[in-house]
Amino acid sequence: MPLTDATRSALAAADVPFDEDVPLASRAWWRVGGPADALVTASTLEHLIAVQRIAAETETPVFVLGNGSNLLVSDAGVRGMVVLLRGELAKCTPLDDAASRIEVGGGFKLTVLVSRSHRNGWTGLEVFAGIPGTIGGAIRMNAGAGLGETVDALVSAEAVLPGGTVRTFTVDELKMSYRTCELPAGAIVARAILATRGGDPDVFRERVRSFLERRKASQPLKHPSCGSTFRNPPGDYAGRLIEAAGLKGFQIGAAQVAHKHANFVLNLGGATASDLRRVVEHVQNTVQEQFGVKLEREVHYAGDWSDWS
Ligand SMILES: Cc1cc2nc3c(=O)[nH]c(=O)nc-3n(C[C@H](O)[C@H](O)[C@H](O)COP(=O)(O)OP(=O)(O)OC[C@H]3O[C@@H](n4cnc5c(N)ncnc54)[C@H](O)[C@@H]3O)c2cc1C
Repeated sequence: MPLTDATRSALAAADVPFDEDVPLASRAWWRVGGPADALVTASTLEHLIAVQRIAAETETPVFVLGNGSNLLVSDAGVRGMVVLLRGELAKCTPLDDAASRIEVGGGFKLTVLVSRSHRNGWTGLEVFAGIPGTIGGAIRMNAGAGLGETVDALVSAEAVLPGGTVRTFTVDELKMSYRTCELPAGAIVARAILATRGGDPDVFRERVRSFLERRKASQPLKHPSCGSTFRNPPGDYAGRLIEAAGLKGFQIGAAQVAHKHANFVLNLGGATASDLRRVVEHVQNTVQEQFGVKLEREVHYAGDWSDWS
């Protein structure tokens, strides 16, 4: 759907760049999904404040896109404004000579953060190793892998709330837990302060290297996925339950439960978002029927699913 004239002229008046009817599939790791009504680029805090204010004033929905590594974007696409964080909101700056505190924009990629940490010996940020998201997405998800979670490195996050108010949250206020946090709905993380830990940089480098090697061997990385589709239920593993339900290799269209790791759902090439969602929901229903366990999704559904059945 086109933006309204009111939204268009308000964005132009605030000098916020945007394009209309922009395909999103290439920006989402599953490589599926329809267009955004508008793709808006926020390069400064002022842009982000303007976007949230305009969205409230014109009743236009807003969705913030990180690196798209945990998103199933619907085939119908996303109504309203999809916001990308770039420029000042995608930078990484040590705040002191010892780099004990680092300011990182919400749109900064974790892979770049980890390689910069590797180069500079910034220990403590290995919690992000192997996660292909941005800082904003990592905070929203409390992303983590074998070397820790976002909560272990985060000091505070500055976010722009719906309407345009800026608020800084301490890590305690965010109440981060397994793959979730209490960032208010609709808040967009503009930047964050991370703490490094000190200690031997060579030990840090070796931990990251061997961890990434182990991960590469255990994950199906030849086809697009969003990593783990489901959270692990308390005391168990989603992958174990899915495998025990006989679902490895289960396929609808070109969407398939991976043989190598049952918690990954792959796009073998040409899958639609609907195919992927059908596989996800079939897995959820089958595990519930067989084991009485309701798997909670880790991946987020984005966009307009109103016609989906
Ligand atoms: C191969 C592969 C391996 C993975 N391995 C792991 C892993 O080991 N551990 C793990 O935790 N995850 C893993 N993931 C999932 C994913 O990388 C993380 O969840 C990551 O934190 C998502 O970040 P993103 O920037 O891609 O967010 P997106 O996928 O773009 O968005 C996810 C959610 O975060 C919100 N969001 C994004 N940016 C912001 C922002 N600035 N402010 C507020 N909300 C925001 C979005 O609106 C959306 O709701 C993996 C994914 C893949 C493809």
